Amino acid sequence: ITESEQAVLDEIEEKDVDFLRLQFTDILGTVKNVSVPARQAEKAFSDGIYFDGSSIEGFVRIQESDMRLVPDPDTFAILPWRQKEESAAARMICDVYNTSTGEPFEGDPRRVLKNALDRADEMGYEVNAAPEPEFFLFEEDEDGRATTNTGDQGGYFDLAPKDLASDVRRDIIYGLESMGFEIEASHHEVAQGQHEINFEYDDALTTADNVGTFRTVVRAIAAQHDQHATFMPKPIPRINGSGMHTHLSLFEDGENAFHDDDDEFNLSDTAHSFIAGILEHAPAITAIANPTVNSYKRLVPGYEAPVYVAWSDRNRSALIRKPAARVPAASRVELRSPDPSCNPYLAIAVMIHAGLDGIEQDLECPDPVRENIYEFDEQKREEYGIDTLPSNLGAAVDALEEDEAVYNALGDHIAPKFVEAKRQEFEEYLVDVSDWELDRYLETF
Ligand code: GLU
Ligand code: MG
Ligand code: MG
Repeated sequence: ITESEQAVLDEIEEKDVDFLRLQFTDILGTVKNVSVPARQAEKAFSDGIYFDGSSIEGFVRIQESDMRLVPDPDTFAILPWRQKEESAAARMICDVYNTSTGEPFEGDPRRVLKNALDRADEMGYEVNAAPEPEFFLFEEDEDGRATTNTGDQGGYFDLAPKDLASDVRRDIIYGLESMGFEIEASHHEVAQGQHEINFEYDDALTTADNVGTFRTVVRAIAAQHDQHATFMPKPIPRINGSGMHTHLSLFEDGENAFHDDDDEFNLSDTAHSFIAGILEHAPAITAIANPTVNSYKRLVPGYEAPVYVAWSDRNRSALIRKPAARVPAASRVELRSPDPSCNPYLAIAVMIHAGLDGIEQDLECPDPVRENIYEFDEQKREEYGIDTLPSNLGAAVDALEEDEAVYNALGDHIAPKFVEAKRQEFEEYLVDVSDWELDRYLETF
């Protein structure tokens, strides 16, 4: 038993933890739980916990359904939503193993991210990441079902009393902090009922773990206030949707490999090539970072979400932004397309692969675009060589299938299953008849 495993066992004893939730995510990014009595923790570390993977989205076929979960002791955290008098429950995030081969399971999204980090490591890099997940808080109706009423008239950075949800946000922050998050800031976002809570950057694996935890905590604590928190990308038409901008940087021997004092944008050649790699693979990344039909209602001009494949050191209409950095260690690039409906492990993995591809192939980085690209017409975009992101889920999945580097990054198990699931989702959507159509046509024809 390792030192960190022992530390977990001690804490279970000390804090009177009775149940342990062992967590992992399916291909679509949903957090799954297996609950075991806490006294099984030692056995979980030594032997793992066996479960039937056939019931988990896209994991395995029925005939090969036995999986083993091995908890990562570094992810141990007490769950914040139990009352004080009750004994505590805790969770650990697990790696999934194949019982027949004993090898890490290829269909585990956490494994896909670890593979990307292994590639970075071979090139001499550590990867840091920080996401900015945005979400809406909606009222529940009498039956406890989510509505799209915000009960809130606040706007960007507004303060109470307009910001009615600030109590909820405060409790969410307490909950996150008790689970080890370092909260940097939180604010009311541009849209009514929309919020953002920023947490400190970390290594990319921890960050992906954190996104899953974040979504769980935000929803659970909002529910305690009879509110429904949603990470759906565009719940209300014609106002801003929710993004999950993702900041990335590479470190080499403890130094930020993206920083260069002498460069006009303080970005190194490495950073420029990384940007070029992401621009090159942007259409395929979109399928992973924007994986729902609804994601594409957000990626339209005019709502601070990207549509055009370009980078900028200033404006928010570009796909990649170089945020101002106060110190060299903070030099980073911000990819603005991801939304919080994505699987964070897969999304961060494909961003890393795309960027590393740019470095390996020494891709040429175009000039930044400083004007508002939303205002460009097609001719001007052509002049600047600016492509458009896929405009729907079907087109994004096509782009994924055409991009070998990104497709292969998902591994032999996940890539075809992801494509199949998303094609089916898109086809279901295409044959559906929406309220908009009924409103528009039912009485007209
Ligand atoms: N909500 C915007 C989006 O969809 C982002 C606003 C911001 O810049 O924080 O990406
Ligand atoms: Mg924001
Ligand atoms: Mg941002």
